[in-house]
Amino acid sequence: MKNGLYIAGEWVEAEERFDAINPYTGQAWTTIPQASTEQVSAAIKAARHAFEHGWKQTTGLERARLLFRLADLLEESADEFSRLESTDNGKVIRETRVQMSLAARQYRFYAGYADKLWGQVIPLDQRDVFDYVSNEPLGVVALITPWNSPLLLLSNKLAPALAAGNTVVVKPSEHASATTLEFCRLLEKAGFPKGVINVVTGDYRVGQALVGSRDLDRISFTGSPEVGKSIAATAGRNLVPVTLELGGKSPNIIFEDANLQRATVGALAGIFAATGQTCIAGSRLLVQKTVYPQVVEALKQRAEAIRLGNPLELATEMGTVANEPQFLRIMGKIAAAMEEGARLVTGGSRASGPGLDQGFFVRPTIFADVDNAMDIAQEEVFGPVLSIIPFETEEDAVRIANGTRYGLASGVWTNDLARTMRMTRAIKAGTVWVNTYRVSAAQAPFGGTKESGFGRERGEAGLAEFLTTKNVMIDFSNDERDPFVVKS
Ligand code: NAD
Repeated sequence: MKNGLYIAGEWVEAEERFDAINPYTGQAWTTIPQASTEQVSAAIKAARHAFEHGWKQTTGLERARLLFRLADLLEESADEFSRLESTDNGKVIRETRVQMSLAARQYRFYAGYADKLWGQVIPLDQRDVFDYVSNEPLGVVALITPWNSPLLLLSNKLAPALAAGNTVVVKPSEHASATTLEFCRLLEKAGFPKGVINVVTGDYRVGQALVGSRDLDRISFTGSPEVGKSIAATAGRNLVPVTLELGGKSPNIIFEDANLQRATVGALAGIFAATGQTCIAGSRLLVQKTVYPQVVEALKQRAEAIRLGNPLELATEMGTVANEPQFLRIMGKIAAAMEEGARLVTGGSRASGPGLDQGFFVRPTIFADVDNAMDIAQEEVFGPVLSIIPFETEEDAVRIANGTRYGLASGVWTNDLARTMRMTRAIKAGTVWVNTYRVSAAQAPFGGTKESGFGRERGEAGLAEFLTTKNVMIDFSNDERDPFVVKS
């Protein structure tokens, strides 16, 4: 696969390139360019030029047409893109196939908004001043993404950014850049003008060069809380607004009155789908004591039956961890959990056997009798590791659920309507799922509270992140007025 940086509509060579590793084989399968600081500046300049000289004058209908075309093209190439994504980050093809449809759905959803960005007319006390509010694009925005779901997470940002009329510079993760670069070919095919979308790849130095620029109008970042804090600090110095989608330690809560069959499947999907490498992973499972032993046993049996294997095969249920540093991090967290006294129910080691030995496979791992104060309950693992915590009362469940620095997602399993209402109010998180987990929709706003970040993606709220409000007052009187007093 031939690729380069994508700047001003051209493929640009970088002086350095690095290997992209297939986490299933452990082998390099392509190379990725490492952009220089000058190339990052060139990408920002190209985006600024494209914004000022053309893109900001486009009509909503023109942008909508391009976005609809892009959605069609992505759907047509979904097989190719899902194979690429699974090769690059080890996510099972069942999941990456769905991710491509969800990504296409984002472009369709926001295409529908592009020609409906109307504002408001505001009746004032000053009867001969006409006031209107318009929504305008911000200008140039930087979009920085992680490795776990590169194209889908990019689409959460790119679709509203473009619909609103901004130009962008994208920086994907050095661990999974392939689909983002390949996606530029679809952007070209769809007909986006040169410079509207620019992509610079490479490691954290590229990210730092990008966020350090004073010529950005917003930074939208998805990644770890540590990097999010450093980006917010840099952006704060330049007064550039930021949207931060960070980590999570989400509680998935099973009450005794729930449909336990469904709740167990929901708990399993919440942590082992995507090999636990999702920010919304239901990594803390809170189970009411009266049903605790049976839920732990059912989860053990199901976890041990999960089919690990080649991410490109449809039968595979859980793929590899996406890269070696992450694999080592997860193994370190498992060892630390055992040391701090969490009871290992299943897993806890590297998976081996036919077809597994070269890949970064971790066996689905469950710890039970976890205390919420333990590191394994407080720190994001970002891997297939579940901590089960027993609780007695609803009040206990709320206290444990909220006893974390994160506030991204949560799940509640109950058939009691009044309890549902109380729990959905009491949980501090950007998303609460009830009798389900991991439902994702272009229309529904998504984001975090506390150290899970701020700002929203998807839905109408996701569009607002990329717009600024302009208020216009037109005085159509011929009054003589006192120049030293506010007109009231
Ligand atoms: P990361 O923070 O290490 O890297 C994310 C991106 O930031 C990469 O492109 C990286 O190169 C870049 N980067 C690194 N250092 C930088 C710096 N100093 N300045 C600017 N850019 C820099 O995250 P990751 O390991 O790629 O992804 C895993 C994390 O992402 C987890 O914490 C996970 O919870 C989080 N995540 C959040 C969401 C969400 O929507 N809330 C979704 C997926 C992943």
